[in-house]
Amino acid sequence: MSDYDYDVLVVGAGNAAFSAAHAAREQVSRVGMLEKATMAELGGNSYFTLGSFRATYHGLDDLRPILSELDEREADRYDLDPYPVESFAADMLRLTRGRTDPTLMRILVEDSFPTLRWLHGHGVKFKLQSDNQVFEVNGRKKFWGGGTIATVGGGIGLIEQHLAAAKATGIDVRAEHQMTGFLVGPTGAVEGVVCRTPQGERQIRARAVVLASGGFEADARLRAVHLGPGWDTAKVRGSRHNTGEGLMSALGIGAQAYGNWSGAHAVAWDINAGPYGNRVLTNKLQRHSYPFGITVNVEGDRFVDEGADFRNYTYAKIGSAILRQTGGLAYQIFDQRGVGLLRTDYGHEGASQVVADSIRELAEKLDLNPGRLERTITGYNESVGDRPFDPTVLDGLATSGLEPPKSNWAQPIDRPPYVAFPVGCAITFTYGGVRVDEDARVLNQADQPIPGLHAAGEVVGGLFYDNYPGGSGLMSGAVFGRRAGRTAARHSRDRG
Ligand SMILES: Cc1cc2nc3c(=O)[nH]c(=O)nc-3n(C[C@H](O)[C@H](O)[C@H](O)COP(=O)(O)OP(=O)(O)OC[C@H]3O[C@@H](n4cnc5c(N)ncnc54)[C@H](O)[C@@H]3O)c2cc1C
Repeated sequence: MSDYDYDVLVVGAGNAAFSAAHAAREQVSRVGMLEKATMAELGGNSYFTLGSFRATYHGLDDLRPILSELDEREADRYDLDPYPVESFAADMLRLTRGRTDPTLMRILVEDSFPTLRWLHGHGVKFKLQSDNQVFEVNGRKKFWGGGTIATVGGGIGLIEQHLAAAKATGIDVRAEHQMTGFLVGPTGAVEGVVCRTPQGERQIRARAVVLASGGFEADARLRAVHLGPGWDTAKVRGSRHNTGEGLMSALGIGAQAYGNWSGAHAVAWDINAGPYGNRVLTNKLQRHSYPFGITVNVEGDRFVDEGADFRNYTYAKIGSAILRQTGGLAYQIFDQRGVGLLRTDYGHEGASQVVADSIRELAEKLDLNPGRLERTITGYNESVGDRPFDPTVLDGLATSGLEPPKSNWAQPIDRPPYVAFPVGCAITFTYGGVRVDEDARVLNQADQPIPGLHAAGEVVGGLFYDNYPGGSGLMSGAVFGRRAGRTAARHSRDRG
């Protein structure tokens, strides 16, 4: 009988962890997953997602074989520009201002589509994002911003499909196992983990470990320490369990800290949402349609270029801009032109919103200075240009002489009733993590692999700096999870 409980042990049960477990199980028989949460709360941040995966493709024909849902009659009306490797790479470089790790970025981009096909082979179901990523222009339904593919059933569906695949192949998923440290052998190799369970502390031994336990976004103290003042007050958009024990334990055994440790993905979020993600509403509390209105702070002033780019390329940094405002509070304001373009999320039951027939009345209802808000909106309306409006392209319909500018989609706000959505900042995940090589092996401070330790997902640093292209988190978890699982299985066999 082996001394080891598992050939490969994966810490976490989100998308990166399941991807690692499936890949390991292709090569070795005893694969385990340890999840801190209860079975009812399984799935990490991945559960709360829309299930949007950013991947490359040349056109609809590339995607057809992996789509479980496609209305062929509707498909005739779709315009889907190709999204080749060069475009994904250019988006990563542009948004991170050239700081993304070139090796990790190349792997993410080049492996994206093959990994979608591989996930599809493991029972993950995909569809086109034909609701919130499409606008109809001249009778054609045009996809925009690289957000094209999502899982059937969103994040909830993704986790259900992963779990079903894991059960079918005999992967052992153990809930209520909070990893608190590593078992390290005399040569420095990782040989398992220490866990806190309802029955007390346990040691679980494995020939190889994959760390996929997420970032530290759900720990207020670590947020304040690493992201800076004010971040302790941010709400958490997803799981309450990503509090960084796995990440900090890895640093504790010599893993190299890597990437943008003071940076995080954070969005505009319904001001009345709870402190952590809501497992029924999941991503519906997000407020991503700000490019089609204006956003003001409690002083009644604009503070951000709402139309700087497609929202897929700005939404991850708008949360931090809101956090910096008085009280961490802002209001997205739309007239009836903007209201017609809102994402479906805005319409959920209980969404916080205020409606008024005039700007003055709106200001009074929001407890803002009415004269100031009227001045802001009049100034904005007077500065907008007169080019044609097109939400599917960067239409250049910009303000002139206004600070901050609105660079695209700047239509006047003058058609009542007006609607305001109060928003705060919610953190999605932290960008800093451990350093991995191209085989997803965790590196020490001398750039050497720590034997037996692999990592994937949010716990890895180096890909995202300051900003992020929507849909890349799940894609990165799957790409590097698959690599980590494969390498861990190989390491496990070599050790045997
Ligand atoms: C509301 C919302 C919407 C989003 N939408 C999208 C989207 O559509 N597309 C996209 O690409 N990204 C999206 N994201 C980001 C995405 O969720 C992450 O990038 C991705 O899910 C990270 O996967 P992961 O497996 O690394 O982490 P997670 O899915 O968070 O998994 C980490 C797991 O580790 C467990 N864990 C933590 N600590 C321990 C421990 N000590 N011991 C054992 N287990 C532990 C956690 O409980 C969790 O199950 C969204 C996030 C949120 C919150």
